[in-house]
Amino acid sequence: MGKGITSRSEDYSQWYNDLVVKADLAEHSAVRGCMVIKPYGYAIWERMQAILDKKFKDTGHSNAYFPLFIPKSFFSKEASHVEGFATECAVVTHYRLKNDGEGNIVVDETAKLEEELIVRPTSETIIWNTYKGWIESYRDLPILVNQWANVVRWEMRTRLFLRTAEFLWQEGHTAHATSEEAVEEAERMLEVYADFAEQTLAVPVIRGVKTENERFAGALETYCIEALMQDGKALQAGTSHFLGQNFAKAFDVKFTSKEGKLEHVWATSWGVSTRLMGALIMAHSDDQGLVLPPKLAPIQVVIVPIYKTEEEKANIDGFVNKLTSELQDMDISIKYDDRDTQRPGFKFAEWEMKGVPLRVAVGARDIQNGTVELARRDTQTKETVSQEGLAVTIENLLGIIQENIYHKALSFRSEHITEVNSYEEFKDVLENKGGFISCHWDGTVETEKRVKDETKATIRCIPLDAKDEVGVCIFTGKPSGKRVLFAKAY
Ligand code: AMP
Repeated sequence: MGKGITSRSEDYSQWYNDLVVKADLAEHSAVRGCMVIKPYGYAIWERMQAILDKKFKDTGHSNAYFPLFIPKSFFSKEASHVEGFATECAVVTHYRLKNDGEGNIVVDETAKLEEELIVRPTSETIIWNTYKGWIESYRDLPILVNQWANVVRWEMRTRLFLRTAEFLWQEGHTAHATSEEAVEEAERMLEVYADFAEQTLAVPVIRGVKTENERFAGALETYCIEALMQDGKALQAGTSHFLGQNFAKAFDVKFTSKEGKLEHVWATSWGVSTRLMGALIMAHSDDQGLVLPPKLAPIQVVIVPIYKTEEEKANIDGFVNKLTSELQDMDISIKYDDRDTQRPGFKFAEWEMKGVPLRVAVGARDIQNGTVELARRDTQTKETVSQEGLAVTIENLLGIIQENIYHKALSFRSEHITEVNSYEEFKDVLENKGGFISCHWDGTVETEKRVKDETKATIRCIPLDAKDEVGVCIFTGKPSGKRVLFAKAY
């Protein structure tokens, strides 16, 4: 593994980059803004996919797949949608290269596409163009479809996982007969995301709605979950949109209702991306590397043997084989790291960097004493425990670690939601403490923009559980009926 990583207090953003690379999660690629996700990082993403996919299916959704390319004319049909995404679109204009006769490979100008194709930044348009052929009457509704895919948004400032030009995600696209049903769906999926973030990623999130300014292009309402990172910056971890009839109108998708009337269909879309990897890393990890919640760890337990002779090794192997099969029966994923090319200390550091929740070290003396040494990644504590009932001890400990990681993040977040009642206080907290700032806002786009220009803080959301409260906007002094959450964000 070599040397460690930059500490968080020294340079948070360098710490993040070092960690992503040293924990073998991802690296920058030769293509601007695009990353290579390495096998260990991809294994974590696959765990996220598997757990989310089951949740989508449990709530009635099926997976399907739509094209990577969207004809420009489709993309332009919903006015606010195209306006929102226009500056981030990669466009395919030609379909052939040729040799120019002087040894250069150039674009064949004669092979120009009649209509340019947009590399999907999101798939509402191609999907609603398709849904037109699927929907005639109320009997065809609802349509509950999800797609796992890659998308491209030509982001100018990129960061590994958090914001890349190409990213992996899932996008749900549903069609409904009524507005109420669509809103219910958008809210249901927000709760699916929130539950996943909290129960699996162990990241507490605030459920809320975006202001008009931050709303998805083409949506009537954007629901979101917002997480807090250890440097006090917020991260939008997932979004669920109520799209009204905007896309149905743009693509002329109508259905005959039970009453025999022809009506436009109601829509939702919702997505989470590889950004969740960034959320996971930034919420829990420390100066020794990644800290993974057990429910997400591709390897939950690593076992490292400590021996001198072949005979000692053989005794340890025998013990480990028995433990392995017991743990596998309990669906606990384990790795026996008996590489003879590396010393135990090196292995300890490597698995610590990679965030494996629990390490079991077994030496020759442990075999004699009927013990092992357990080391927790989250607390970095060690204890010697009996081999008797070890599988159950491990299972319980994994549950405790999952809880502990969540509660640590939750208390950090609780300490970092600050109520303020003046702009002075607002700027002071933003500068010296960070986190979410709960305050009154007059509800206008202008005020939000001015605060952003002056402080870089944006309204992360209007929390769904915000109480009605009479107050005045910290910036303009105009009346406000609810507090919103501001923060600097990734
Ligand atoms: P949106 O379609 O804009 O609502 O975004 C859907 C999800 O993708 C949200 O959870 C975003 O946080 C995430 N996301 C948006 N842009 C990027 C990006 N450039 N890289 C990674 N994730 C992204």
